[in-house]
Amino acid sequence: MPSKMKSIKKPADAARASRSLSRKHPAPASGRGRDAGPAGAGGEAPALRRKAKPKADYTSPERLQKIFSALDELFPQAQCALRHENAFQLLVATILSAQCTDERVNKVTPGLFQKYPTAQDFAALSQPVLEEEIRSTGFFRNKAKNIIGMAKKVVADFGGQVPHTMEEMLTLPGVARKTANVVLGTAYGIPTGVVVDTHVFRIARRLKLSKQKTPEKVEQDLLKLVPQERWISFGHQMIWFGRKVCQARKPVCADCPLESVCDSRDKTV
Ligand code: SF4
Repeated sequence: MPSKMKSIKKPADAARASRSLSRKHPAPASGRGRDAGPAGAGGEAPALRRKAKPKADYTSPERLQKIFSALDELFPQAQCALRHENAFQLLVATILSAQCTDERVNKVTPGLFQKYPTAQDFAALSQPVLEEEIRSTGFFRNKAKNIIGMAKKVVADFGGQVPHTMEEMLTLPGVARKTANVVLGTAYGIPTGVVVDTHVFRIARRLKLSKQKTPEKVEQDLLKLVPQERWISFGHQMIWFGRKVCQARKPVCADCPLESVCDSRDKTV
């Protein structure tokens, strides 16, 4: 029999072990267990119960306000870091930014947009040509396919202009809620939701604003906690907060203004 199995105590063994423990460490003279009622007059003091730790209210208005104020103070002018001159360029840049840094995307897009300034230009591109142009952003085959498909649909269904509603945006190839929120919020100033990228997802969970395990569900939690007039700025601020302070591997907790309200087990202080 493997040694691991031998070490597992059978119920009878466990009972014997428990009796032996009781002999070595007898219960108090009163014979009261932890849950015994109050001692009678002249009896011994009751065993002290461990006080239950009060449950923290992670979504109280005070705590939320503290988070909003700290973000306002740190990043009063937070903006999207992707370079663009119009909604279509931002849409292309956002698709390219999947699994890639904004810095890398910003190196590729100026030349790309100079060669192909409009949705019609992208719609007319061949897949191999676009793949070569965007190769350095990674996942270039899939991105090229989505960008050309998206451009064709923008031209065919929306007259070459990026649509203005979430519903319409979600009909475009390669566009899910995150991308749609980035474009509608940044290019058009329309607050359709909160951008939940990798930074926002991580920080929302560290600050216990959400326990959810998908970006879509985390966004639904944030929509209930963040006032709509903050939806656009909150996304940008959280992204910058994730880049500069609450980084994935080594959060700079010693300098974090939210340290006093943060219970994350990823804390470094
Ligand atoms: S204390 Fe640390 S883990 Fe918590 S929000 Fe600040 S940087 Fe992030």
